[in-house]
Amino acid sequence: MYAGHFAIGLALQSRMPRQTAWPVVLGVGLLDLLNGLFIVLGWDHVSPNLAAGPYLYFDLRFIDWDHSLLAALLWSLAWGLLCWRHGRGLAAWGAVAALSHWVADWPVHNHDLAWYPFSDQHAGAGLWARLGTWAWWLEGGLVLGLVALAWRQAGHRGADWRWPGLLVVALWLGLNPWLSPMRAMAGWPEPWAHLGHGSLVGLGFLLPGLALIALIRSAPPAGRQNGA
Ligand SMILES: [Zn+2]
Repeated sequence: MYAGHFAIGLALQSRMPRQTAWPVVLGVGLLDLLNGLFIVLGWDHVSPNLAAGPYLYFDLRFIDWDHSLLAALLWSLAWGLLCWRHGRGLAAWGAVAALSHWVADWPVHNHDLAWYPFSDQHAGAGLWARLGTWAWWLEGGLVLGLVALAWRQAGHRGADWRWPGLLVVALWLGLNPWLSPMRAMAGWPEPWAHLGHGSLVGLGFLLPGLALIALIRSAPPAGRQNGA
C-alpha cells in the first residue's frame, strides 16, 4: 500500500490538526522508509517481477527487518519513544500511526509479511495478486474516503486541509499500474533494479511526508477562503 498509508495518517492527524504533525505523518510511512533503506543496504531482498503488479512490479522476498509483525511492533514502539518529547499523547499517536502501516499492508501484501525475522510463517491476504489493477482502485476508494473524512474533521477543528488532501489523492493517482516508475525499474539490470526500487520506496515516503507536514503546518483557517 502507498497513498493509503498517508490517507490513514491524515485521518489520524485530523483529530488534532494544529498539533505537531511529524509523529503521525512520518510514522505511517516509517516501515517503508526503513524498508527502502534496508533494500539499498542489502539487508532486505526484492526481485523484479513484471507480473507482480499492480504498481510495485517487484516480489518482496525478504522484508523481515521492517515488515515482519515483530519488527513492526518494535519499530512502532521505538518511534513512540522518539516522539515522547512532544508529550505522551503524541508519542502514543505516533506509535499507533507506525503500527497502522503493518495493519494496512496486511490485506494487500502477497503473503510476504513474516511473523518475525526468518519465520517460515507469513501473513498477507494477497489482494495485490488476487485483484491486480482492482487493488489499486480499491486503495483509491480508501484514499478518497479517508481524505474526505480528514478534510471534514480538520475543518470542524478550524483548519482548511484541502491541499494536504489533494496531495494524498495526487500520490494515489501518481503511483498507478500504467505509469509506475517501478515498472521501468523492474527492467533494469541488477544491482540497479533493487537499488532503484529501494531508493524510490524510501524517498517516496520521505519527500511527500515532508511536503504534507509543511502543508498541514501552513493550512489556513477553515472557512476563510469561502468568504473571500
Ligand atoms: Zn509497507
